Amino acid sequence: MDLALSGTMLQSSEVDTDTIMQGNELRYSANANVQNGFMDPRELHPFQSNDLTESTEDHSPSQSQRTTETTTTSNALRRLLLPTGCCYDDRMKYHANADFSANPHHPEDPRRIEAIMREFRDAGLIYEGSDSDLDNILKISPTRYMARIQAREAREDEICTAHTASHYEWVRSLSYKSPAELRAMTITFDEGRKSLYVGTLTHYAALISAGGAIETCKNVVEGRVKNAIAVIRPPGHHAEHNESMGFCIFNNVPIAAKVCMQDYPDVCRKVLILDWDVHHGNGIQNIFYEDPNVLYISLHVYQNGQFYPGQPEDEGLPDGGPENCGAGLGVGRNVNIGWHEQGMGDGEYMAAFQKIVMPIAQEFDPDLVIISAGFDAAAGDELGGCYVSPACYSHMTHMLMSLANGKLAVCLEGGYNLRAISRSALAVAKTLMGEPPERMESIPPLNKKAARDLEHVRAYQSAYWDCMRPGIVPIREMEDRNASRLSEVVRAYAKKILSEKHNMITMPILRNKICKSFDNQVLVTPMIHQARKIMLIVHDPPEIVAQADSLDNSVLPHNAWVVNDLLPYVDWAIANGFGVIDINFPREIKPTDNQPYLPNSTEVDIQQLSKDLLSYLWDNHLQLNISAPIVLLGVGDAYLGIKQLLTSRDVKARIPCVLSYVTGSLRPVKSETDPNLSSWYKQNSLIYVSSDHSCWNDEDNAKRVRKNRFGAVKKSEVTGLGRMLKKYEKEAESWVLEKVNDWESIYGGDPDETEEEELTAGSSTRGLPEESSTGTRMLVDGRAGGIP
Ligand SMILES: [Zn+2]
Repeated sequence: MDLALSGTMLQSSEVDTDTIMQGNELRYSANANVQNGFMDPRELHPFQSNDLTESTEDHSPSQSQRTTETTTTSNALRRLLLPTGCCYDDRMKYHANADFSANPHHPEDPRRIEAIMREFRDAGLIYEGSDSDLDNILKISPTRYMARIQAREAREDEICTAHTASHYEWVRSLSYKSPAELRAMTITFDEGRKSLYVGTLTHYAALISAGGAIETCKNVVEGRVKNAIAVIRPPGHHAEHNESMGFCIFNNVPIAAKVCMQDYPDVCRKVLILDWDVHHGNGIQNIFYEDPNVLYISLHVYQNGQFYPGQPEDEGLPDGGPENCGAGLGVGRNVNIGWHEQGMGDGEYMAAFQKIVMPIAQEFDPDLVIISAGFDAAAGDELGGCYVSPACYSHMTHMLMSLANGKLAVCLEGGYNLRAISRSALAVAKTLMGEPPERMESIPPLNKKAARDLEHVRAYQSAYWDCMRPGIVPIREMEDRNASRLSEVVRAYAKKILSEKHNMITMPILRNKICKSFDNQVLVTPMIHQARKIMLIVHDPPEIVAQADSLDNSVLPHNAWVVNDLLPYVDWAIANGFGVIDINFPREIKPTDNQPYLPNSTEVDIQQLSKDLLSYLWDNHLQLNISAPIVLLGVGDAYLGIKQLLTSRDVKARIPCVLSYVTGSLRPVKSETDPNLSSWYKQNSLIYVSSDHSCWNDEDNAKRVRKNRFGAVKKSEVTGLGRMLKKYEKEAESWVLEKVNDWESIYGGDPDETEEEELTAGSSTRGLPEESSTGTRMLVDGRAGGIP
């Protein structure tokens, strides 16, 4: 530190309203014992240190003559009597916005660290009495106050354990820039992903912040304190090895971890960095992405890559997505728990800890745990938009204290609501000091989508951690063992039944884009082109019910059932002279995906695929049989296919009725080109909707679904597709027959004549390539146009 800067520091010290942690150089020496709550426990309790195999300083008297038993007991006693360390230094406030305008507010405000320290002081965690009293207090109650850990400037070689020399040089060069230059830089950097401000003392403050993290972690590793919290800024976790960004200058935590692993290679071999800042710590991830000795676990809002820090400019760099698990030797050492949305709270964080963080951390078995502790997921932080309570921070801290023999260092990262960060940091500090975590009153239930987020993480991590494996299938091994997905087996079985019972056959789908997804999924009765009437069924796959083994989740075939609720409808249709087209909509849309867990296809997937498939069927098969009425039956989410057919082809003249059973999204049927479509749909449909559907709970929704475009919606008395299909089987069947009879009485001519025309239409177009379907349509349209 040069003198000019020191001068500035002294003058600026008047901004220090916080007297608690003041004090001159406090070193670990006998005469420093009684200042500011600090004490060297080894001098109070001179037991042998066996925490360290290597000590940089010679403090401990040799006690090698003690017996092993005594050492064990005294060591236990010693750990109990160690205080919690706290690192703070006012000089970190010197990194300030170079914008000197009237209101230069920035969320990363120098007052953040001061507010936290004041909270500690007000809660009595910091000693404020006279030095003479402290000596006695510490003898009686050595862990009553936090022990001060002195921050210092990190050295260039320490910074360069995690950063490039040119990056160090760039930060240093800020000290020599004029205020005008710094302001101009700040204006540029404030934009977009860079999101940074710089000032004359940025370099200095950042060195102290990094040095504070180093000293905090070293004190914990050396066993001088039980655990510690570093109230430091500027934060670090967004800083890349070659770049400052996201309010972060140097990446404090990786620097501290690297220095500890370098200086104590025998006792600090494996480090867990747990990052609960609401933002993904891209810098930490990337610095250790190929390092097998550092496990990085981050809980953050991901929003499909949209939430800050978002997508790296360098496309080769991973983002905060759950699929990014590390690379090279470090594969499996990166765990991204990315929430799909803001708004997460205690329920989600506790679940993440219980289901993912702690099992993996225990399996990793670190020598040191560092928390990258941003408090911007705390309730009250507007940037984060989440709801983590101070009690939840205590519980998370408490769980992490069970690792690494309690060697836990907490380093502040983000967090911008002064009230929220102070209360949260206080909860963490008290827990570190040994206070049991506050009881959490009524944890809200785990958000369903967040539960899925966790399942995705588990699926990706299952390749690397035993604890993530129960219930997760090793997909590559399955492929080697010639395994089939059960969905394929079930469909093959359905095909067998329909083929044995009704001679139904697979309809080949001769279109590349959809054929893979629909291999075996479209079954038809023979001679469908000549059927007098057709029932087109689009349905979800049959329900599978299984009683899994409670110990290992395995499913024995005799404890599992495939339910085929639709079979009676097919039987009935065929008995009543319908030709049947049975389309099973697979729930996994990407059959080439080799992930062990394929999520359910989304509504968008179903709509797109059903549009392709049903348009194809219409153009190439259904419209060829021009006189047959087509009854549409939609079951489950696959019912969305009906909407696609009705809106993408002019088919309504051929449809006597639409029958559907719905438990999921209800979607309107409307067309810009055909204003009558919605009213036609209302008159000719019967849509049974599960009694527990949300549309019945809300007055507005209930009103909306009565509109034409939703069809003739009927509230079912029962829940679930299976129960509805059973309950309304007879009612629906007679309704269908009635509608078909009505249709036939209007449109149906002499059967012989129809047959002849069918044949004419059929022979003129059958076997023609797809391109001529326009011609075919003209023919059909011509006939349809002639209908009164
Ligand atoms: Zn943050």
